[in-house]
Amino acid sequence: MKVKCLIIGSGPAGYTAAIYASRANLSPVLIEGPQLGGQLTTTTEVENFPGYPDGVEPFTMMDDMRRQAERFGTQFVSGIVTKVEFALPSLQGGAGGRLPHKVWVEDTDLYEADAVIIATGASAKYLGLESERTYRGRGVSACATCDGFFYRKKTVAVVGGGDTACEEANYLAGLCEKVYMIVRKPYLRASAVMQERVLNNPKIEVLFEHNTLQLTGEGKVQGADLVYRKGESDEEQRHIAIDGFFLAIGHHPNTELFKDYVARDAEGYIIVKDNGTQCFSLPFREGQGVGSILPGVFAAGDCADPHYRQAVVAAGSGAKAAIEADKYIKSL
Ligand code: NDP
Repeated sequence: MKVKCLIIGSGPAGYTAAIYASRANLSPVLIEGPQLGGQLTTTTEVENFPGYPDGVEPFTMMDDMRRQAERFGTQFVSGIVTKVEFALPSLQGGAGGRLPHKVWVEDTDLYEADAVIIATGASAKYLGLESERTYRGRGVSACATCDGFFYRKKTVAVVGGGDTACEEANYLAGLCEKVYMIVRKPYLRASAVMQERVLNNPKIEVLFEHNTLQLTGEGKVQGADLVYRKGESDEEQRHIAIDGFFLAIGHHPNTELFKDYVARDAEGYIIVKDNGTQCFSLPFREGQGVGSILPGVFAAGDCADPHYRQAVVAAGSGAKAAIEADKYIKSL
């Protein structure tokens, strides 16, 4: 199938790109991917997305966005992109004109697109405990900014010792009665200033050399069993009573599929040009300004954003990607 604009991903970035692209008459096709609605749907309620003064259930919000894109003609394909073959800049132009970018869904259905918008998001890392899955959305969260408000005056734990964990612990300390930080090493990895803030906050108790064994509770998180490992053989178990358990042990951008074509940073986030959404082709040397634009390939949302990770920011970059894709298609 030949399309002008193909969008990969159904989170706020993908849907917003679809709204803009369809209103620009690009007749976009959006491949929904493995998690319809994106990462946001792992939370319980969204209260910080503008336009919903009373908050909104994440599935409702994502469905609103989907219907808005559908109203202007976006075509949705349920399935997973399994392979891409982007046309390299060296093959563009010349007698053959512009080559399309190729995207396969479920290995079989081939889409040939003038422009591709990558909006595949990122996934929070979890510890991998069975009980973490049981209580997902019922006390387990990977976003303090999204869910912290529901734990006002309660006791929560944050796992991790990096900048994100410190930032989340500080944020939660502004809302909660008490915050535990569960840190597996005898020190924090975070920057000095973040460490200082955490260690000087009377509401935060850092549990160094602690790991989580399991979460407990009747239908929702009410506690955590921890193990304190000091040295090689010294081990002690303890239980803490908590209402919320926040993971802050990093994120994986969902960009593996594109690794042979677009420039990514050391963490795998797609590098975009000048705060826009245009991708670079390979080879690329970060910081040295070496790399050419990969014409017609754009990235939006968390797959290209290691910093903000907010739905509203992702939506904004989805709009940017569609505007840039439109400009690109008109130039062909
Ligand atoms: P980091 O990789 O820096 O830190 C992850 C933390 O989680 C580490 O303490 C790590 O422990 C711990 N961890 C990882 N896996 C496990 C596990 N299985 N069990 C227990 N603990 C685990 O990730 P961040 O998200 O904190 O930061 C990512 C990048 O973003 C960093 O470069 C950071 O500086 C930056 N950032 C900057 C901010 C700012 O400047 N305001 C804010 C937020 C992030 P260990 O140390 O033992 O490996």
